[in-house]
Amino acid sequence: MAADTAFASEENGVLKVRTCAWSPPGDHPVGCGLILHVQDGKLVKVEGDPDHPITHGRLCPRCIALDEVVYHEDRLQHPLVRDRADRGKNKWREVTWDEAYDLIEAKVREIWDKYGAESIFTLTGTGRESTLYAPVYGPAVLNTCNGASTYAFSGQACYGPRATIANYLLGAGVPEIDWAQYYEDRYDHPGWECPKYLIIWGKDPLYSSPDGFFGHSIIDLMKRGSKIITIDPRLTWLSSRAEFHLQLRPGTDAAVGMGLLRVIITEDLYDHDFVEKWCFGFDELAEAVKEWTPEKVQEVSWVDAQTLVGAARAFATNAPSSGIWGVALDQSKASTQAGQCFLAIMAICGYLDVPGGIAITKPTSFIGKWRYEMSDTISPEMAAKHIVDPTGKYALFNVGAAMGGVQGDTLLNWLEGMYKDYDCYYDLKMCWMIGTNPLACMADQPQRWYEAMKPLEFIVVQDIFMTPTIMALADVVLPLSTFAEHDGLVTPNFGRNQHFIGAMNKAFDNPNTKSDLEILIDMGKRLRPELWDRFESVDQFFDEQLRKNYDFGLDDVRAVPAKMAGYEYRKYEKGLLRPDGEPGFDTMTGMVELNSIVLASYGEGAVPYYEEPEFSHISKPELAEEYPLYYTTGGRNISMFHSEHRQVPSMRAMHPWPLVTINPVVAERYGIAEGDWVRVTSPQGHMTQKAHLTEEVNDKFVHVEHAWWFPEQDGEAPNLYGVWKANANNLIPHESVGVTGYGAPYKNGICKIERVDSLDD
Ligand code: SF4
Repeated sequence: MAADTAFASEENGVLKVRTCAWSPPGDHPVGCGLILHVQDGKLVKVEGDPDHPITHGRLCPRCIALDEVVYHEDRLQHPLVRDRADRGKNKWREVTWDEAYDLIEAKVREIWDKYGAESIFTLTGTGRESTLYAPVYGPAVLNTCNGASTYAFSGQACYGPRATIANYLLGAGVPEIDWAQYYEDRYDHPGWECPKYLIIWGKDPLYSSPDGFFGHSIIDLMKRGSKIITIDPRLTWLSSRAEFHLQLRPGTDAAVGMGLLRVIITEDLYDHDFVEKWCFGFDELAEAVKEWTPEKVQEVSWVDAQTLVGAARAFATNAPSSGIWGVALDQSKASTQAGQCFLAIMAICGYLDVPGGIAITKPTSFIGKWRYEMSDTISPEMAAKHIVDPTGKYALFNVGAAMGGVQGDTLLNWLEGMYKDYDCYYDLKMCWMIGTNPLACMADQPQRWYEAMKPLEFIVVQDIFMTPTIMALADVVLPLSTFAEHDGLVTPNFGRNQHFIGAMNKAFDNPNTKSDLEILIDMGKRLRPELWDRFESVDQFFDEQLRKNYDFGLDDVRAVPAKMAGYEYRKYEKGLLRPDGEPGFDTMTGMVELNSIVLASYGEGAVPYYEEPEFSHISKPELAEEYPLYYTTGGRNISMFHSEHRQVPSMRAMHPWPLVTINPVVAERYGIAEGDWVRVTSPQGHMTQKAHLTEEVNDKFVHVEHAWWFPEQDGEAPNLYGVWKANANNLIPHESVGVTGYGAPYKNGICKIERVDSLDD
C-alpha cells in the first residue's frame, strides 16, 4: 500500500487511504467516499470522505462496521474443497489457490469433453461489484451460452424489467432523478434546477441507497424545496412527509400508473410540444388509459381517487419534476407495464433530459462495452444452445433485454427435467455462482432449487463468508477480498446511467483472498488464454478500458475522490443519443415509444395494460377467504444488505431477528403481541418471523423480511443455518410471471398468519 500517493498519505504511522465503497460487503454501486485508517497493515478506523462530491462524508452503519467484517473469525480466508459426497457437511479442506484453480480447470475441461460447454451455467446476484464481471465468466471463460446475467430468481424480478423497458421505450439506460449528481459543483451548478415534485415509487431509498442512487440526496432535494409523492403500500418515513401518499394494494402499480396518465391526458396537463415532436403512439396510449378513471383505480388499487387526481395534477403542473422507480415495480406480473407507465408519465410531462427532470444516458458505459465484447466470444453453434423455454414462452426475454441470461423460472424447470422430451434438451452438469446466495436470498421456492441443483456434478462458489448455499451445494469455495483489500472501479447504476467513476483503492492486504475480477482474469488465462493473456494486471485492465473510452486513465480517476461524468441536457435535440448522430432517441422510430414497436412485434401489448396478480382477492376469491391478508417482502433495513451482515455483531445487534410487520388491529384479531413468533402461510408455503406491530402497514397486508439465515445455527444439512425457517421466498409462487418472462410476485401474494411458539414451529 503506497504512502503519499494521490489517494494515500501517512501521518504518525497511520496510513489514510481514500477510496470508494462497494460490496463486498455492503451494497449497490453507490460508491460512498471513505477514508480508511490503516496502522501496521490493519484497519483501525473508517470515516466518511468529506471531499467526495456525492456523499460529503455521510456513511451508513454498514461501512462504519467494515472492520467487523474484515477481521471476523468466520471470514473465508482460504480456498476450500470437499468431496461431492460431503455436500451439506462441514468437511472442508483448505487448499492453495493453485490447487483450487487446478481442480476447477481439470473439471471444466472434463465437462467440456464429456458433455459440452453448454452443460455449464453461471448464476449471479445483485448489487455486488461482481455484477459487473459475472456476465463474462460464462461466455469468455467457461465458453458456455448459459452464462451472462442468469439469476436463480423468478422473473428476473429486480432491475431487469426496468432496464429492459427503458431500452424499449427510450433506448437509454435506467433513468434517474436529476439530483445534480453529474457535476463537481453539484447543487450550485449553473443551469441545474431543483425538481419541484419527486415521485418515489416502490422504493425506500433512504434505507436502500439503491444502485447508483445515494438515498440522502432525497433529503438534500427536500431541503431545497422538492415535495414528495410516494406510491407505496407502506407508510415509509418519506410517505409520512409526502404531499401525496398513494397507498396502493401490492401489485397494482400498473393500474395506478394508468390512472395517473389518464388524469394528465384528459385534463390536458401534458407537454404538447414534447409529445408532438418526440413521442410515438400518444393516441394509442391515451386510448389505453381511457377506462382508468380515478374511481376504477380506487376500486382496483385501493388508492383514494382524490389523492390520485391531486398527485397527478401537482406532478404535471409543476415543471420540472422528476421521479424514481424501485424494485416493487419489477415484482409483479405487470412489471414491464408498470415501468411503461412510469416512463410515459415522465415523457408526456416533458421531464425527460431537462434540468431537474429525469436524467437519461446511453445504456452502456466503458465497462459495459467491454462486457458485450467479451460476451460475444462463443461460437454461433454454442450460442444457439442457449437455454430458452422450448414451449415458446417468454420470447421477449432476450430481445433488446438489458440483462440477458437464462430466464430464472425456465432454468428451474430445465433443472427439474420438465423439458426432457424436447430435442433441444441437454443435462446441466456444472454451476459457478458469483456474488449470490440464492437459497437464502432470491430463489423462489428455495427448497426446489436446492433439490434441483443437487444432481449437478460440480459447483464452484465465491464469497466472503460461508453461506447456506455454499454449505448446501458447493464443491469448491473461493474466498473473496472486501473492497478495502483490492483495487477496482465503482460505476454507479452498473454503468447504465453513470454519473461518476470512483476508484476503489486497496488499503491493506489480505493475501489469501482475491477479487471477483482477479479470479475472472486468472481463470480466463487458464481456460481461454487467447482472450485473456493480454491482461497483465487489474490495474492494466482498468487503465486500458478507461483509455479506450475517455481521455483519461486509471491514475486520473485515483487522483480525485470521484471522476464526475458531466451531463448535457436535451441530448435528443443534439444528436447525442443515437449512434448515427441524428436527433432523437435511440429507438426504431427515433422517438419515445409510448406505443412500443418492440413489444408489439412479439405479440405483447404495445401500450400499458393492467394484469391482476395471479393470487389476489379478485383473481382467486375463494382461496382469498382462506388467505385473507396480502404480504409484501423485501423492504430493506439499514444494517444489512440482502443476505449479508447476519454475522456482523453490531449490525445484528441493530436488527437481531427477522420481522413480520403487522398492523396492531390485525395483530389483536389474531392474538399476536409485539415480539411473538408468527407463522406466515401462503398457498405455496410458510415461514416464521417475529411480530413487529406498527401502523406502517395497514390492516390489509403484512410485510415480511427477506434473505434471513442464522450463521449462529448448525450449518450442516438439513438445517443449513436455519435457511428454510424464516425464508420469505417459501411464500413465492413459481412461474407466476408476465408474458415477457419478467416480473414475479415477491411483493404481492395472499397469506394467513398465526402465532406460534418458536422459530422452529
Ligand atoms: S450506502 Fe452505506 S454501505 Fe453503501 S457504500 Fe454507502 S456507506 Fe457503504
